[in-house]
Amino acid sequence: MRILVTGGAGYVGSHVVKLLGERGHQVLTYDNLSTGHRWAVLYGELVEADLGEEGKLEEVFQVFRPEAVMHFAASVVVPESVREPLKYYRNNVENAFKLIGVCLRFGVKAFVFSSSAAVYGVPEEVPVKEEAPLRPINPYGSSKVMVEQALEDCSRAYGLPYVSLRYFNVAGADPEARIGQASREPTHLITRALKAAAGRLPRIEIYGTDYPTPDGTCIRDYIHVEDLAEVHLLSLEYLLDGGRSRVYNCGYGRGHSVREVIEEVKRVTGVDFSVVEGPRRPGDPPELVADPSRIKAELGWSPRYGDLGSIIETAWRWERRLEDVLREA
Ligand code: UDP
Repeated sequence: MRILVTGGAGYVGSHVVKLLGERGHQVLTYDNLSTGHRWAVLYGELVEADLGEEGKLEEVFQVFRPEAVMHFAASVVVPESVREPLKYYRNNVENAFKLIGVCLRFGVKAFVFSSSAAVYGVPEEVPVKEEAPLRPINPYGSSKVMVEQALEDCSRAYGLPYVSLRYFNVAGADPEARIGQASREPTHLITRALKAAAGRLPRIEIYGTDYPTPDGTCIRDYIHVEDLAEVHLLSLEYLLDGGRSRVYNCGYGRGHSVREVIEEVKRVTGVDFSVVEGPRRPGDPPELVADPSRIKAELGWSPRYGDLGSIIETAWRWERRLEDVLREA
């Protein structure tokens, strides 16, 4: 099948492109390389262009004629979205609307959207079910809610079948360490802890130790990027089998505290790096854990890497290769 992937040179997108390529699909990546990397696209053609260029997008649709579209291209840094909301509304909302319009004009049969647990804000109940109220607490989360709303309306009005995947905390890397998280200024816990282990950061800071959790630090549901990639393929197959439009939480349903993650990183790497305790980071909910019952029941998803250790092991292998990959690029 012909699948167009926006943001296919980015972290999650590149793992999905790899999986689609391995399963024999014809993939085209559309990415402006603002945060993605050419080397991360392991299968298919890469068109370097911005989603804002609607004419270019139409041209690509005209030639490639995608049957399905997976939409990853977006800005993803929460604090930046607070400082520069318009950038998020332009990149994440306006561009998604343009893309949806083009998909409708070209008769795309299935649309898979990268959403986020940020749509829930600070959830009242954990584990979080898909029916939980959507109360984002930053422009990044709001931008995802707006696109989900547009998809729901367009699906009803024009019959564009879609699946929206609400990611919890994505981590890990390709087990063969060909691709992985490669952002220039990583903010995520596992990546930063691995950089501390590799000696690329002097220490790691724990953002808040006075949360109402057993060890006082925040709890998150970490999902391996390879398991998440599989969810995208299952979503596509589901839609093409005639499944109705749906929203799914993507997580394992199991939480780990910041302290647990740091201990596991020390165990896997064998490095006892320096850890300091600092104040809370604004906007962090104490606990964010998915209820994955719906995705398991409806898509038959069964994760292959359901433990924190293998997430960290694959990310560690990648972290040690990253500098060489960036140097060679
Ligand atoms: N965190 C931390 N130190 C860091 C990075 C993150 O204590 O250097 C905490 C952060 O406050 C949150 C958890 O780790 O409670 C996961 O944060 P991350 O940025 O990885 O993902 P988020 O949950 O914000 O999407």
